[in-house]
Amino acid sequence: MSERVFNFCAGPAALPLPVLEEAQRDLLALPGVGMSVMEISHRSKWFDEILGEAEANLRELLGLGDDHAVAFVQGGGQMQFSMVPINFLAADASADYVVTGSWSRKAAPEADKEGAARVVWTGEEHNYDRVPTDAELELDPEASYLYFTSNETIQGVQFEEPPAADVALVCDASSDFLSRPLDLSRYGVYYACAQKNAGPAGLSVVILRRDFLERRKTGLHSMLDYGKHVEAGSRLNTPPTFAIYLFLLITRWLKGPMGGLAAVEEFNREKAALLYDVIDASPDFFLGHALRDCRSTMNVTFRLPSDELDQRFLAEAEQNGLFQLKGHRSVGGIRASIYNAMPRDGVVALRDFMVDFRDRS
Ligand code: PMP
Repeated sequence: MSERVFNFCAGPAALPLPVLEEAQRDLLALPGVGMSVMEISHRSKWFDEILGEAEANLRELLGLGDDHAVAFVQGGGQMQFSMVPINFLAADASADYVVTGSWSRKAAPEADKEGAARVVWTGEEHNYDRVPTDAELELDPEASYLYFTSNETIQGVQFEEPPAADVALVCDASSDFLSRPLDLSRYGVYYACAQKNAGPAGLSVVILRRDFLERRKTGLHSMLDYGKHVEAGSRLNTPPTFAIYLFLLITRWLKGPMGGLAAVEEFNREKAALLYDVIDASPDFFLGHALRDCRSTMNVTFRLPSDELDQRFLAEAEQNGLFQLKGHRSVGGIRASIYNAMPRDGVVALRDFMVDFRDRS
């Protein structure tokens, strides 16, 4: 198969075609450099420019000022499950964790290894089909931070607004990073692994409020110390240079052709509505996993009335050029991940296939 198909993978996910095309064009020789981005020193002036523009674009997209620092690190999303408490949770302190799905459920026990992770709410009883309201959260005003996952990739539940809390927020935004505008003033740490909305695997982007960063513990191992990464300008060791370069191309694409994050949000909402409208029109055939007011614009999760129909749906979808729609094993059924890079045409093709499949079944 040499033609590109529509790829609904949850991650590593489809990248914007113009970004891949540019990376392909420049793979052997960066314009003006004559060497591949993979072949230049991470301390060269060429890479200075790449890193500098990537950070500047990120700051512009999110409206970040000087009170926030940015670190590009390795170790994936799950490394952050540990780095957050290693930096910010003392042995005699506790942090509040909101458990809305598989990823926040996995993060909380890592914090327990440093101090105490208090699970203030869990959606486990209902198989994580929603996020809590503020009224349901009894938060500790002394907590070191309140941790939540803005979009649970596996269950497809998303916070519309962050929880109301007096303490600093820590957010795993791995699967809805740069999908909408956001005011980060209440966030101590806002992080995302790149392989959904921001590039290939191997890079995580961490945004830290500087006053919160000052509260970190002392005597940390250098590679686990956010402060050291920030001081070293994300070059404490060799950073994932190729992934940072692709991140740069993605930020250019978001700022330019995509028109900035407000336009990206509208684009994503419209795409998601195309699928949710079909689910809502046939609730006995497409059994949506997430409750209506918590549904994700990034990961649309549903099942069909039987496992057999799920299997047939997946097989026939592939025959129609619609790939990687299988739900995660813990939820089953179907998951359509429609991140920023998924074109509207891909979602329309899936919507039309869903309608046709329903009418034939
Ligand atoms: N958090 C979220 C919300 C995720 O979706 C994922 C990965 N799918 C992770 C964390 C873990 O990322 P990684 O595999 O890079 O550790």
